[in-house]
Amino acid sequence: MTDDFATLCANEPELATLRASIRDFLTADRAEFGWQPAVDAWLSSWDEGFSARLGAAGFLGLTIPREYGGQGLSHLHRYVVTEELLAIGAPVAAHWIADRQVAPGLLAYGSEEQRQRLLPKIAAGQYFSAIGMSEPQAGSDLAASAAKATKTEGGWLLSGTKVWTSGAHLAHQIVVLARTSPVDPDRRHAGFSQFIVPTARSIPESLRSCPPSHGITISPIVIMSGEHHFNEVTFDDVFISDDNLLGEVGNGWHQVTAELSFERSGPERILSTAALLTALVALLAGQDDLDDHAAAAVGDLLARVISLRQLSVSVARALAAGQSPVNEAALVKDLGTRFEQESVELAADLFGYAATDAPDRDRVAALLNVARLHSPLFTLRGGTNEVLRGVVARGMGLR
Ligand SMILES: Cc1cc2nc3c(=O)[nH]c(=O)nc-3n(C[C@H](O)[C@H](O)[C@H](O)COP(=O)(O)OP(=O)(O)OC[C@H]3O[C@@H](n4cnc5c(N)ncnc54)[C@H](O)[C@@H]3O)c2cc1C
Repeated sequence: MTDDFATLCANEPELATLRASIRDFLTADRAEFGWQPAVDAWLSSWDEGFSARLGAAGFLGLTIPREYGGQGLSHLHRYVVTEELLAIGAPVAAHWIADRQVAPGLLAYGSEEQRQRLLPKIAAGQYFSAIGMSEPQAGSDLAASAAKATKTEGGWLLSGTKVWTSGAHLAHQIVVLARTSPVDPDRRHAGFSQFIVPTARSIPESLRSCPPSHGITISPIVIMSGEHHFNEVTFDDVFISDDNLLGEVGNGWHQVTAELSFERSGPERILSTAALLTALVALLAGQDDLDDHAAAAVGDLLARVISLRQLSVSVARALAAGQSPVNEAALVKDLGTRFEQESVELAADLFGYAATDAPDRDRVAALLNVARLHSPLFTLRGGTNEVLRGVVARGMGLR
């Protein structure tokens, strides 16, 4: 029992040492550069300087082999570092998608040339990627995607529209899922391929305004807080060279599904509100007039974080063992993101106990405001919870 518990804690000596060193890095980096912990930092806190410093210190590309500029470590090592970054609300958005799912995708399906070209820059925290899967008529039902790529001399011509593309306006590339053969109604998931599509940022400035146009239009979609994180992206006969086909023609669905286990199971599905919760608990800890209700609410929060974390660690262990825990990842995301949403309401309740003259009150209030505005996003991104429950039911052979 004790051994089982230790396994779930991800605190073996080597991991504990790594945890201590990332904590030291974060403390020193924050003291020097003055960034502020943020709620939902992995979506909204884009700080390229931070990403580059993190990469230079060896805390990015942990699962990328050394020959491609990474650290050659396991998913558990990456889990520990990721968890610490999220717990403090560090500004991780710039490198997030590239490090989390593009790098594993390249390692699993990319050509040798693609790995050598892209992985060292990802591990250095200097190359950022967006993911173009969802479309206006294809979100949960991704197989309805209509973007298509048609073979041409030396490459492909890509046309279509992607939506909710996080970070596309700042990224160097977008990994796009597109149809490369017509829909077969009996096999809707067949006929997709993935493409690495360089954005204007990857094209030398001197060439950007030359006709013919690059063919990519990136339009902002502003969320209700007024922030711009995601976009609508239109591709109009964009030429993609053969060396930017990712994996095999027709294997896109399988590749994307495998990628989603990395996207769904991580600690970001539990810890999006961690910066708020830790600041709030610190605020209340100084008060001796808290009643039992408030103390119990804090205890409840912590107990839920601990159990969710253990579920999430067990998925990381399965990934580290080379398995593809699709159903488990879906369950962790469902439970974790519901916790994130409920934690915002609980935090709002608890904030009512904060003394009006508490020194950090305004900062906690600001974190709470952001958390409230972002909260509806938690259960949607990465596949909605309703749809994930369907995935789990099917995985259990229930329908
Ligand atoms: C913050 C954020 C960032 C995102 N970033 C990206 C990104 O970078 N790249 C990208 O490609 N996408 C991104 N997305 C899109 C995200 O993956 C989609 O929003 C999601 O898959 C749902 O698709 P949809 O919005 O079209 O909703 P719909 O699929 O239209 O769903 C609408 C509602 O119907 C329900 N529903 C649909 N089908 C079923 C079903 N079979 N059973 C039960 N209920 C169902 C859903 O649960 C939902 O409540 C992002 C979304 C958010 C919120």
